[in-house]
Parts: sequence; C-alpha cells; structure tokens
Amino acid sequence: MAGQIGASRVKLRNEVLNSSGTLSETTRPRKVHVKSFGCQMNVYDSNRMADTLAPAGYSETADPAEADLVILNTCHIREKAVDKLYSEIGRIRVLKEEATAQGRDMLIAVAGCVAQAEGEEITRRARAVDLVVGSQNYHRLPELVARARGGERVVDTEFPLEDKFEMLAAPAREAIRSRGVSAFVTVQEGCDKFCTFCVVPYTRGAEVSRPVEKIAAEVERLAAAGVREVTLIGQNVNAYHGEHKNGDQATLGALMRRLSDIPGIVRLRYTTSHPRDMSEDLIAAHAELPALMPYLHLPVQSGSDRILAAMNRRHTRADYLDIIARLRAARGDIALTSDFIVGFPGETEDDFRETLALVDEIGFASAFSFMYSPRPGTPAADMEQVDDAEKAERLRRLQAVIVRNQRAFNARFAGRQVEVLLEKPGRLPGQLVGKTPYLQTVQVMAPRAMIGTVAPVLITEIGSNTLFATLESAATAALATVGA
Ligand code: SF4
Repeated sequence: MAGQIGASRVKLRNEVLNSSGTLSETTRPRKVHVKSFGCQMNVYDSNRMADTLAPAGYSETADPAEADLVILNTCHIREKAVDKLYSEIGRIRVLKEEATAQGRDMLIAVAGCVAQAEGEEITRRARAVDLVVGSQNYHRLPELVARARGGERVVDTEFPLEDKFEMLAAPAREAIRSRGVSAFVTVQEGCDKFCTFCVVPYTRGAEVSRPVEKIAAEVERLAAAGVREVTLIGQNVNAYHGEHKNGDQATLGALMRRLSDIPGIVRLRYTTSHPRDMSEDLIAAHAELPALMPYLHLPVQSGSDRILAAMNRRHTRADYLDIIARLRAARGDIALTSDFIVGFPGETEDDFRETLALVDEIGFASAFSFMYSPRPGTPAADMEQVDDAEKAERLRRLQAVIVRNQRAFNARFAGRQVEVLLEKPGRLPGQLVGKTPYLQTVQVMAPRAMIGTVAPVLITEIGSNTLFATLESAATAALATVGA
C-alpha cells in the first residue's frame, strides 16, 4: 500500500511540474473550497484536507464560485443529512456548469460521514460528483483528485491500512495563523459504544488513538505559530488510549499533563466525552492542571434509567450524578454542559420528567437538545416511535428549563472579574471577542494587539448568549508595559 501511494505521489508531482521543472498551463495553481458540516471533528478534518492539498498547488478560497475543487465535508448525525447533501450538490452543480462555460474545470468531491455511509451511491445519484472520499481516507486526496482530473470517477471509502495522520501534510504557519489562536486537534477517532440511535460506530469505525508524542509535535507546531488554546477532540475523546513514549498506553489525563508543559499553550479543553470513560485519573487532572479549563461537555441524553438502557448508554442516572459530584469535588467551579434527546422510542411522560428534573438537579451551564429522529440502519430506528407532536412539545419544555438554568449560571458572573482569552475582532470597531474559562463568549473593547492574550475583565452586562465586559486596569497596565 505504501509503495502504491509513493508511486502515485511521484506521478502527481510529475503532473504538477513540466519537463523544465516549472508549473505547466494545465497544472496552474488551483483553489479549493472546503465546506464543513457538523461537529468540530469535521472542522479539523476540513482544515487538514486543505493542508494536505496545499503541496499539490491548492490554496484555500472562501468563495466556491472561484474554486477548482469544491469539497463538501458531510455529517451524518443531523436529521436528513443525505437529503441536505443532495440539495447542496445541486447548488454547487450550477457553479460547476458556469465554470465549464468559462472553460474552467471544477471538480466536486464529497467527504466525511455521509460519503463513508453512502459511497458509490452518491456518484450514481449525482452525476456532477467526481470524487467520494471516506472519513479515514482524506490523506489520499492529492492522488484521488489527480485521478478525478484525469476523468476517472473515484470512490475511496475502504478503511485504510495506513495511518491517515502519518500521511497528512503539516499545516503551513500562515494557515495556522489564519485559523486563529484557538485550535482543535483530533487525538482519537471512532466509537465502540454502539448507542442504539447513533451511526458513528458504523461511519467512523472502532476507537483508535494517536500516539502522545505525535500529538505533542502537532501542538508544538500550533503553539509556535501563535495558538494559545487547544481543544482535544474525538468521538469518544476520554476513551483516549494512545501510545506513550515508554510504550505504555496513556490516558487522556496523561496526554494533557504532557501537553500542558508546551510553552505558549495556556488553555486545554477536550470534547466529546462519554460518562463511562470519566476515569479517576481524568477527574484528578481537573484538580491538578491550571491549563485544563473548568469546563466539561458530558452528554447524558436522558434522565431516565429505562431510556438510558434502551439507548444502550451503559450508564445510569446515578452513575452520572456520581461523576458530577466527583468532578465538583475536584474542581468546584466546573461548568457542565450536555446533550439531550427527547422522544426516544418508548419515552413516557414520566421518563421525560426525569430528564427535566436532572437538568435542574445539575444546573447545566448550557445544553444541546434534539428531538429523536431515526437513523436508517440503527437499532432504535426499528423501535416503536413517539408521536412527532409529543416530541416537539417535550423539546419546547426541555429547552425552557435549559435556558432557565443557562441564565442562572451566567447571572452569577455579573460584576465579577474573569480571565478571558481574546480571540478575534468583534463586530464593532475596537471590540474583541474572547472566551471565559467556562466557554462563555465575552465582548470587550480592547486593542487588536491583545488578541492571543489572556486578560482580566470585569463583567458588566449579561446578554442572552454573550457577556459584555470592560478591561480591568491590570490588563491595560500590562499592555502599556509591552508598548502595544
Ligand atoms: S458514544 Fe454513543 S452517541 Fe457517542 S459516538 Fe458512540 S455510539 Fe454515538
């Protein structure tokens, strides 16, 4: 396999350079537009796709109309993901036809979880699609794109033998800078849990973890280019079990201890976690590591043991409450967020009330909530369904309780000083946007030179989704010292 890849890389390079070693007319610099759907893992994958195509002459564009290659990086989690993909392809096809009329070849590629699940079916249903690449194969994009440019319809969704992360090109310093001071790094992929509503174990495969030192090298590169906060991501990130330097398996806590030593990295986060994998070691890391932010997204999905069992979640309501108690003992100020599914098959009004009660009992800082919708091929799709109107009504009630808890959580910050990582310019001139340790968005008037710094601010106003603040004098004084 490695030999084949090496050979096609050489072929691609020969296609890019003509005999005099310069770029030929047919291989002029090209542009790629990657549209990302779904979770942060897809955002990370989209960035790595662009990085990996850069050595083949592709620069990123935000405008699909001027792209020579449009990649739709799809997500299978949300409802009607497949329908949404085909309507998106319809929109891009119009741009492709316009490009063809101008004498320009535009390729359309479909990547990600829908590509993995649907495979060849996509090229059958949508003739405009030139290339389908699964979530584990996008490191092969340069070769696959070269084949598609040669007129072949390419589908590559087999799980590869080689390690995707070993084959990906490292991002250029400018690319890292353009993506901001807060970055995602995939440390784990796949899932072995098989919740009865979820397609991830089928589309992303079994749980695999990257070695500690490979991740550390990536984080060092990010830090050297100005990244200050890293969020470690994985479908089951706290099931992380990558290889340590000494050959042992490392826990997520051990990985974060290693990363917290990297100069420049001042904040660490991780998502998404499963309650079953909240080990003592990981909870202890919350007490030990100043860089590990006091924030945890821990999906519970339901407050009813009957429904948790039907979902095959492998934890009970009591297990979840026990984890939260231990986390709060380790880090009293930790902010907790969660995911909920309402109207799961068989959910009664009593089951649902247990979910409502759990939100109040824990006092979540925020939460995502969804009506259950069947995913073809999953066990829950064949169970007896709850009426749609009932689901909608329960969702409305749940969201009201979540919003009440979110407001109560944010209200506690009025008049308090908090440290904010300033990330980017805001909408108003002179305004910056940043995040508190608890992942709340803060808007503050501050000079651009402070982007990438952690500054003390005073919270002056609580909005529905944003906190408003003024810079504390310590931050202004520090800025004056460095002459910014
Ligand atoms: S833990 Fe459950 S919900 Fe999460 S990715 Fe795995 S199967 Fe899906």
